[in-house]
Amino acid sequence: MSRCEELFAEARRYIPGGVNSPVRAFRSVGCAPVFATRGEGAYIWDADGRKYADYIGSWGPLILGHAYAPVTEAVCAAARGGASFGLPTEREVEMARLIAELVEGVELVRMVSSGTEAVLSALRVARGFTGRELIVKFEGCYHGHSDGMLVKAGSGLATAGRPDSAGVTAKTAAETISCRYNDVGEMKEIFAAHKGEIAAVIVEPVGANMGVVPPAPGFLESLRELTTAQGALLIFDEVITGFRLSLNCASGYFGVTPDLWTFGKIIGGGLPVGAYGGRRDVMSVVAPLGPVYQAGTLSGNPVAMAAGLAALKTLRGAPHIYKELAAKGERLRRGLAEIFKKCDIPACVQGIESLATIFFTEGPVRSYDDAKKSDTARYARYWKSMEKRGVLLAPSQFEALFISAAHSGEDIEYFLSCAEEAARGGEL
Ligand code: PMP
Repeated sequence: MSRCEELFAEARRYIPGGVNSPVRAFRSVGCAPVFATRGEGAYIWDADGRKYADYIGSWGPLILGHAYAPVTEAVCAAARGGASFGLPTEREVEMARLIAELVEGVELVRMVSSGTEAVLSALRVARGFTGRELIVKFEGCYHGHSDGMLVKAGSGLATAGRPDSAGVTAKTAAETISCRYNDVGEMKEIFAAHKGEIAAVIVEPVGANMGVVPPAPGFLESLRELTTAQGALLIFDEVITGFRLSLNCASGYFGVTPDLWTFGKIIGGGLPVGAYGGRRDVMSVVAPLGPVYQAGTLSGNPVAMAAGLAALKTLRGAPHIYKELAAKGERLRRGLAEIFKKCDIPACVQGIESLATIFFTEGPVRSYDDAKKSDTARYARYWKSMEKRGVLLAPSQFEALFISAAHSGEDIEYFLSCAEEAARGGEL
C-alpha cells in the first residue's frame, strides 16, 4: 500500500469519505487521492515523495504558484503580529480599496471567508434590496454549497452525476430557477413567466464548473439588458474569474458591469477568503448601514488579508503576467487540439486565458447539456495517463485546468508531450 493509500484508509475512519471536500476523493478516476505534502512554484509533492506538475492549483487561488515567496513572507509576518482580533485592521481597508480601484463598478465591498459565503450574502443583499424572492442561476454553474445554489449545480455535483443535493427543502429549491447557459431565449421566457418576481440573475461570466464554457458573444450583454429592464440585479460570480481573466476581472474583460460581484480564491492568496461587493446603493442595505444582516468572526482576517494583498499587489505590479498566462493557455489549447485531431480522438479543447478543459466530444460545448455528452471514461483514462507521467489534473471532466505564472513554457511543452505520447500509444 502506498502512503497515500494508507492515509486515505485512515482518513476514512474519521472524515466522511476521507476528505474535507468531495472532489478531493478522486472517485471519478477510481484511485486514492494525492495527499499533498509540499508545493513550490508549479510543482507539488505527495506523501509518497512523487513530484507532480500541478494544474489543479488549489482549484484556482494559486495564480502565482505554490508558496510564492512574497505571499509566504506576508503570511508569516502577519501571523507574528496576531492571527485575529475581531476588530478592524488597516489591511482590510487596503484590500477593499484595492478591489474597488481595480474593478470598475465596485464601490463597497465586504470581506467573508469563502466563496460560498460571498454568494449566499450577495443573494441575501439582492433579495433585501429588491424585495423579491426568486433567483435565476444557470445549469452547470457552481456557486458554493448554500441551499438555494445546489440546484442543477456543476463541479462536484456534476462529477457525482447528482444535479441537486439531499437536505435542501423543496421550498428553498423552488426559489431558484435554472436556465441553460448561453441560452438568451430561455432567459427571456423565464423573465416573461415571472414578471416582477426575480431578485437577481447570478452567473459565472465564464462557466468553469462544468468544464470551461466561455460566454457566447452577446450572452452577458443580454443578461445585463434583461435584468435592467426588469428591475432585477445581475450578479457576476467571479470566484474563479476574478483577477484570473484580467486584473479588472471578467466584468472589465468583457466590458459588462453587473450590480454585484462575488470574489474568492485569488484574493486570498491561498488562504480562506471571499468577498462580495458592488454598487453603493445596493451594498448600502448591508448591516450596520441597512437591514440585511451578515457578519463573521474571522471576516477580513489579518493573516488572510496579508496573503491576499501580497498576491493582488504582485499582479497589479506585473500586468505582463496576464499576457504570459494567455500565451501559455493558448499554446496548451492549440497543442492539445492538434494532438487529438492527429490521433483521431473526438475532443473539444475549450478555455480562455489561463483556463482550459478538454471535453471528449465533438464541440463546441456551450451548455451543461453539451458538457454531459463528453466521454467521462475517456477523461478518466486521459487523467491516469497524465498522472502516471507526473502531470496532475483535476480528476473530473467537469472542472477547469488552471495555469499559473509559475508554469514555464517548458512545463507546457512537457504537458503536450505527455498527452501526445498517451494519445499515440492508444492509452486513451
Ligand atoms: N463560486 C464559484 C464560481 C466557484 O468556483 C466556487 C468554488 N469552486 C464557489 C463559488 C464556492 O467557493 P468556496 O469553495 O470558497 O466556498
